Amino acid sequence: MEQRKRIYLCLAHMSENGMEQKYIKDAFDQNWVVPLGPNVNGFEADLEAFVGQNKHIVALASGTAAVHLGLLCCGVGRGDEVMTQSFTFCASSHPITYLGAQPVFVDSEPDTWNMDPVLLEEAILDRIRKTGRIPRAIMPVSLYGMPYCVDQILRVANKYNIPVMEDVAEGLGSNYRGRPLGTFGRYGVLSFNGNKMITTSGGGALICPSEQEADRVKWYATQAREAYPYYQHEDIGYNYRLSNICAGIGRGQMTVLQDHLAHHRHVQKLYEQLLAPVQGIEVHCAPSEDYDSNYWLTTITLDPKLQVKGQAWAYSQAVNGAVGGAASVVHGGGTLRTDCQPNDNVEAMRVFLNNRQIESRPLWKPMHRQPVYKDAPAYTNGVSEALFRIGLCLPTGPCVSDDDVHYIVECIKDGIG
Ligand SMILES: *Cc1c(COP(=O)(O)O)cnc(C)c1O
Repeated sequence: MEQRKRIYLCLAHMSENGMEQKYIKDAFDQNWVVPLGPNVNGFEADLEAFVGQNKHIVALASGTAAVHLGLLCCGVGRGDEVMTQSFTFCASSHPITYLGAQPVFVDSEPDTWNMDPVLLEEAILDRIRKTGRIPRAIMPVSLYGMPYCVDQILRVANKYNIPVMEDVAEGLGSNYRGRPLGTFGRYGVLSFNGNKMITTSGGGALICPSEQEADRVKWYATQAREAYPYYQHEDIGYNYRLSNICAGIGRGQMTVLQDHLAHHRHVQKLYEQLLAPVQGIEVHCAPSEDYDSNYWLTTITLDPKLQVKGQAWAYSQAVNGAVGGAASVVHGGGTLRTDCQPNDNVEAMRVFLNNRQIESRPLWKPMHRQPVYKDAPAYTNGVSEALFRIGLCLPTGPCVSDDDVHYIVECIKDGIG
């Protein structure tokens, strides 16, 4: 059999004309090899031009850092509660705990797979009843790039006067009713990790409502230094600013952002077309034109009745290293099964595709089912857990060609039966 090049979910992809290296070279030539400088300013200006809405943007060392500082600036502190989407990557909720606050997980609605606005309101009322206090912030997420129910979530937030921080780490370039995600809340979080829509290798940004707010975030991100000739500290700060080298990559990547967006949307359409006749497999699509997803990852669901080759011995083999990427820092799994995991046919399909040099990945496991959050309050309706059992992410990134998509769909068909 021919040896195919492995197809990954979403790999970093540099501009054809080497713009990233040009900006990095500028940084070296000008001796700006520090976490501030012309590339940082230039990258922030490019991002501000892209999202518009008179927003001010602060480039940070990671999306996780942006979540952390955004929550801090919402006033989240020890003993506070933050309403957050359960169906997300851990970087939404972990920073809540860094602040000594408590994540309160809210389940998803079935159309966008994001925070259920009706459940959110019920949860807020229950928190007020139980704790006598109003939650400090609401954090909806744009999972796989799909816009959340912006209008309904904002209505609930405004009713109880709770600030919204949008985690749109996966949703750069997504729009709700024609307006960029991340510009609806008080703050919006972006990520430029290696697998996101664009990358700075590692990096993130916080979208802020004003220059004063952005200055406050920059101040927290540079150890909260007071204006004295010597180091004077009256508050706790962080070392969270983006490196001028990484920002150079970001400036280069901004020149290909529109291409990447067009590519992801094209790949999604192609999957939709090719998988339409395949019984038992459904591609997740936006519920209406109001929800303009960047389709960062194409996601499918498998009918539990679908038979997949190798299903009988699913989960018999331990996963060596992380599913996709951080192999060196993942603890060895203790047991092969947990009490909340994808169905056997989903795992069998993942293994089947993996053996054909295709990376796929289960949907994110809901935070309310993660052992580390077993004591966190959760308001559930079964939606995210049910999706986690049947869903799979498919390769969608800029390195995935039309030919690859055809091959992947053929392999999925081969895997059935
Ligand atoms: C990637 C991601 C983040 C964090 O971004 P990093 O840059 O990796 O720290 C936050 N939230 C979600 C939903 C993400 O997918």
